Amino acid sequence: MDRSPTSSAPVVAADGRRTLLLSVDFEDWHQLVRRRVGADRWEEPGPALERQTCALLELLDELAARATFFVLGMAARTHPELLRTIAAAGHEIGCHGDAHIPVHTQTPHAFGADLRAARATIEELTGLRPVGYRAPAFSITRDSPWAYDVLAAEGFEYDASQHDTPRIRGRVVPAAIGPHRLKAGLWEFPVAVWRAPAMRIPVGGASYWATIPTALVLHGLSRAGAMAGLYLHPYELDPRPLRAQLSGGTSITQRGHAALREAQRNLARRRAPGVLRAIAGCYRLITYGEAHAQLRDRAAAGP
Ligand SMILES: [Zn+2]
Repeated sequence: MDRSPTSSAPVVAADGRRTLLLSVDFEDWHQLVRRRVGADRWEEPGPALERQTCALLELLDELAARATFFVLGMAARTHPELLRTIAAAGHEIGCHGDAHIPVHTQTPHAFGADLRAARATIEELTGLRPVGYRAPAFSITRDSPWAYDVLAAEGFEYDASQHDTPRIRGRVVPAAIGPHRLKAGLWEFPVAVWRAPAMRIPVGGASYWATIPTALVLHGLSRAGAMAGLYLHPYELDPRPLRAQLSGGTSITQRGHAALREAQRNLARRRAPGVLRAIAGCYRLITYGEAHAQLRDRAAAGP
């Protein structure tokens, strides 16, 4: 008899709501967009992460939800006070790597070093040792299956990087839509995706909510399996429009690239709070760490 968690009944809270896992990829949009367009002094702290994080933490309080923040090391170093505030508010601290370099472009050695750098920063600032990981841009692909072994060797206990969206080239298609064990011994928590008859619909990411009607997001989540994952970014909760604010020496091409990124992100930003409120009305939102503890205890208890 198959007793894997993915074959069991959906996890239902006492109030009848099903459970989804809520996460935030904690990164500084301005750092990343400046680096992407090749701007000078890209590593300087961006002007908006503090207000974005405050808006996000207020919304999570309003929804009585706790989330897992997968923290990018370089963003934490430029905004140490924000990381401490997030941890003090009772959210789980996970790891998003250090420099936001796609995993499949790294060697196993470089990937291990990136993980250790991020974790050293997180531990120094919070005293907490993250056991969960999300790859930048879900970049553990079919070209980098070794990444799971590196994560396990570095002491991580779960991964949340599998996202079955057509936008990711070479993506790893999860073996199950719900949490499951990987060969490396880690737990995998896939992002919520509705496997509709004709296509995959990635309903778990706030960047997709910009183009999917809320009712369809809710319907898709009902088909995405128990303990499916949601993710958003601080910039999607920014109360003000995003502006890249490049320095004077940037070219027209650089400014064009930045303007495109602004337009894409501002579309998602306008929709994210309302969609998350609608989801919270139908689902109980918990951290990945809470789900991981439940599954681990259930597995330890045996059949
Ligand atoms: Zn990221």
